[in-house]
Amino acid sequence: MRLIPLEIGRLHTDLQSLTGEPGTIALPIPSWLIEHDRGLAMFDTGMHTELRTGTERIGPWASKVFEPDLPDGEDVTARLGQHGIDPTDIDLVVFSHLHFDHCGGTVEVPNARIVVQRQEWAAGHHPKLIEHHVYNPDDFDLGHEVQQIDGEHDVFGDGSVVCLPTAGHTRGHQSLRLELASGPVVLTGDCVYFERFLDDMTVPQFGYDLDQQRDSMRELARLRSEGCRLLYGHDAGQFASLPAEGLT
Ligand SMILES: [Zn+2]
Repeated sequence: MRLIPLEIGRLHTDLQSLTGEPGTIALPIPSWLIEHDRGLAMFDTGMHTELRTGTERIGPWASKVFEPDLPDGEDVTARLGQHGIDPTDIDLVVFSHLHFDHCGGTVEVPNARIVVQRQEWAAGHHPKLIEHHVYNPDDFDLGHEVQQIDGEHDVFGDGSVVCLPTAGHTRGHQSLRLELASGPVVLTGDCVYFERFLDDMTVPQFGYDLDQQRDSMRELARLRSEGCRLLYGHDAGQFASLPAEGLT
């Protein structure tokens, strides 16, 4: 099994909106390609290519807070192509959650089965949350086969890729554990944006349930203390340090 990081552009934002500190920051928008004997999977699909030309689809709040940066050559189709993969060959997409920067590229992988927590899929269709642009079903509800799961889930049935519920950032947020030959890895998603957030238990204020998110962070910290390597949701330094050919 191989885990390949794909950077689907960046979001520029004020650090203020995340931590209350001054300054600006570029958040890498990760999608993760998983090459497994039983199929090709992705964990999250990054941003929609429409964000190149306008931010209408993410609504006024996100447009004010985030400036999308998705150059040619960094969309899902281009990133997969750089690894010799046709997007129609992606079998599975596992969503950490359904915010626009985690599922916007789903339209580019038409044959994938979606794996998502039942609570997240329900939240993503809540009329009030759609009205307030927390979710946009046009990112994720596009006619793909959808497998709604409840709690831990063994993606390939061999224990090598397992969904771990880490609710709090959103109602049905999940992380993904992979048993690589080099050791266990957990993709934290937005449960933990940066490594230092886990060290000082910083939680951005716009989550769904911040206490629940802290509980999920403690669980990830426990896995880290047991030797799991954590790969964080938007950690520019860590992301840039990963080998382009991926981890095995
Ligand atoms: Zn999010």
